[in-house]
Amino acid sequence: MTLVEPLLRSSVASMFNNEQVRADFPILKLKIDDKQLIYFDNAASSQMPKVVMDRMLRYQTMEHANINRAVHYLSETATAEYEKSRHKIKNFINANEDREIIFTSGTTDAINLVAHGYGRKFINSGDEIILTALEHHSNIVPWQMLAEENGVKIRVVPINDAGELLIEEYKKLFNKNTKLVSVTHVSNAIGTINPIKQMIKYAHTQDVPVLVDGAQAAPHMKIDVRELDCDFYTFSGHKLCGPTGIGVLYGKANQLNCMKPFKGGGDMITSVTFEKTTFNTIPHKFEAGTPPIAAAIGFGAAIDYLSSIDLSIIEEYEQNLINYATEKINTIPGTQIIGSAAEKVAVLSFSIKGIHPHDIGTLLNEEGIAVRTGHHCAQPVMQHFKVPATTRASFSFYNNISEIDALIAGIQKVQKVFL
Ligand code: PLP
Repeated sequence: MTLVEPLLRSSVASMFNNEQVRADFPILKLKIDDKQLIYFDNAASSQMPKVVMDRMLRYQTMEHANINRAVHYLSETATAEYEKSRHKIKNFINANEDREIIFTSGTTDAINLVAHGYGRKFINSGDEIILTALEHHSNIVPWQMLAEENGVKIRVVPINDAGELLIEEYKKLFNKNTKLVSVTHVSNAIGTINPIKQMIKYAHTQDVPVLVDGAQAAPHMKIDVRELDCDFYTFSGHKLCGPTGIGVLYGKANQLNCMKPFKGGGDMITSVTFEKTTFNTIPHKFEAGTPPIAAAIGFGAAIDYLSSIDLSIIEEYEQNLINYATEKINTIPGTQIIGSAAEKVAVLSFSIKGIHPHDIGTLLNEEGIAVRTGHHCAQPVMQHFKVPATTRASFSFYNNISEIDALIAGIQKVQKVFL
């Protein structure tokens, strides 16, 4: 027995029943070619509990109509349920007001919204934006597009060989031209948790606002945007047991109020003539056209579900999973973990000497184990570690120790086949 195992059997296990939780997710019963599915691709997209599916089905069967536009029963019901979801999300991240929650199609869309609405208004030629070497492409490319258009310079916080940001270097990047910091809370590729509270505090001493990409943090830890004091925070529904096509941009009301709208169309206006359009107030100013109503309501149900488990319990349980997996994989000769930050979420990115990640993924799939192989949309991270790709097993609270044991056995099998 390892050091981590007793922990899993004691404190967290007494508060959290993994077997019971697993029963909430129909897909976990799936067999792939007679092998029990083991789903370790949660960083790409998590699975959905039945209560979320049921909620969306109820909306489609009993409540569907377009929102905001009519006085009939169905439209009023749909509008109320859509707004209830906004309210749940506001509570989930402890925002001040519902209007600070903008529904987007996901994190990518939310970052693009800020790059357009804030960037194209306030960041001009000669100005600088600070990003980090740990960013997902979603938090690089929108800024590069702005940089090309407006002559903005991008500066990048480097990382050490554990995959941690060099905070002293971060501080050195600030100067009078710095207009925004945009940083991921957690690295999707290697799991590092960045010290964003400290980074935000420092940026604010320089009068620089901060956007936090929370796509990989919100599923694993309690987020409190007021405590963080971030100006913007983004995350996606499909990584939080919710549906695809829905995500959130949180922004402080004063920031959102100053921004330009991103998309034009219905609902985001107060009046339109051919001479002039006046825009609606937040959040509607940023929600042009018919939104994914079922997805937004489903997202609200996912938030209810996660809140019923409690994020702090999830965090502790998942920490035990990653500690156990790390301990086990380190006993296998020829494996190397990519990213060994002191603070990380349950993401195990690794390579096996002499075997391409694609082959590892393919053989693990034959065991029913779903992992992701590739650059994980974070090519600068791969460049730092001088690898073209890694194999990534990312855990969720519905995973367990016996699944990790199966992964370890799978890795040993892969080595037998190839070496
Ligand atoms: N940011 C991070 C850190 C991510 O991991 C991802 C997706 O994996 C994204 C942004 C983009 O999220 P989405 O594809 O839901 O827009």
